Amino acid sequence: MSEEANPFESLQEQIDDAAAYLDVDDDILERLKHPERVLELNLSVDMDDGSRRRFEAFRSQFNGDRGPYKGGIRYHPNVSRDEVKALSGWMVYKCAVVDIPYGGGKGGIVIDPKEHSAAELERVTRSFAKELRPLIGEDRDIPAPDVNTGQREMNWIKDTYEKLEHTTAPGVVTGKAISSGGSEGRVEATGRSTMLTAREAFDYLDKEIEGATVAVQGYGNAGSVAARLLEDIGADVVAVSDSSGAVYDESGLDAVAVKEFKRDTGSVTGYEDAAEELSNEELLTLDVDLLIPAALENAIDGDLAEDVRADVVVEAANGPLTPDADDVLTERDVYVLPDILANAGGVTVSYFEWVQNRQRFYWTEERVNDELERVITEAFDTLTDAYESHDLPNFRTAAYVVALQRVVDAYTDNGNWP
Ligand code: GLU
Repeated sequence: MSEEANPFESLQEQIDDAAAYLDVDDDILERLKHPERVLELNLSVDMDDGSRRRFEAFRSQFNGDRGPYKGGIRYHPNVSRDEVKALSGWMVYKCAVVDIPYGGGKGGIVIDPKEHSAAELERVTRSFAKELRPLIGEDRDIPAPDVNTGQREMNWIKDTYEKLEHTTAPGVVTGKAISSGGSEGRVEATGRSTMLTAREAFDYLDKEIEGATVAVQGYGNAGSVAARLLEDIGADVVAVSDSSGAVYDESGLDAVAVKEFKRDTGSVTGYEDAAEELSNEELLTLDVDLLIPAALENAIDGDLAEDVRADVVVEAANGPLTPDADDVLTERDVYVLPDILANAGGVTVSYFEWVQNRQRFYWTEERVNDELERVITEAFDTLTDAYESHDLPNFRTAAYVVALQRVVDAYTDNGNWP
């Protein structure tokens, strides 16, 4: 294994790769490669046993030229300042590629949620929300779920903010429970855009999605929903994994049954209807038509990319390929559909949720899914137009060419005030 890539440097490399095809001033580019501000906090929180613990936390506001900062909050022991900076930058270009009126932000707490009770997690979350209060708001910065956070955490943030502000402001966070102003279709949205991106890509590349074999690395919300929706359009999910390992059956697994097994037992391994158990690395190098990395950054580095045997990779996770892996897969003619398109369904339906919150007028699930499909297919077409017209080496560069130009235009048209 090569040395672990720094995700913030990966982001900067991706921006540079796209900028080479555009006419962007160096000083503007420099600005768009760094966050506008990063808040670093030490939260002191009471534990159930009466002790008090310190938790490091971050919120990076990367760029607000196209609208309020937008992006999730992650709870994970490996959260770091550079990871949060990278994730916030990816949000900028993700919102731009699907053309929704947001900038990008991201937050994280260095914590292993499995080690804490719900009461402790509530105190940690409310403490973070109290500190974030001056920076966030419906028109400023709008958090959302990310790894290990969901409706519960978003409701705590909303409630803390609203109580401290003596107001109602459901649009201060997205990804809330339906009862608190959440949107139909939000929970499934990331997996849905992954499926839509795979479907469009197979069509574009003249490949059949029906009967295509699929391996999914990571079986949380994004991976499991993508697997189920791909099954619905006729694909064969043959392998899935989580941090415990992978299960494989060349005749196909039942995506829903594996999800239920994981819900009941905590992991996918041990699922009795699978023919074989594999390591995560074996799953990533299976001979399948479609590989979906749906876990964390740097799942595939340059060395592993040499052994990837899938024809198409669709990134449900943020940053699962290192820049070296990208180079290897481009060289080997493996098509990679980038995270900033494939998992953009999450933030797109967050945008729909926010629109509904602002209007106090709520949509049906059918309307949400139809609008999401329109956004993703239009973004896909814009990306492939750029890929062809600029003769670009891969779809990631195409996505960044489209997105970077939109951010540069917004900054320049705003008048360039530093
Ligand atoms: N955390 C998700 C992402 O990485 C969703 C962000 C949002 O909805 O604002 O795209």
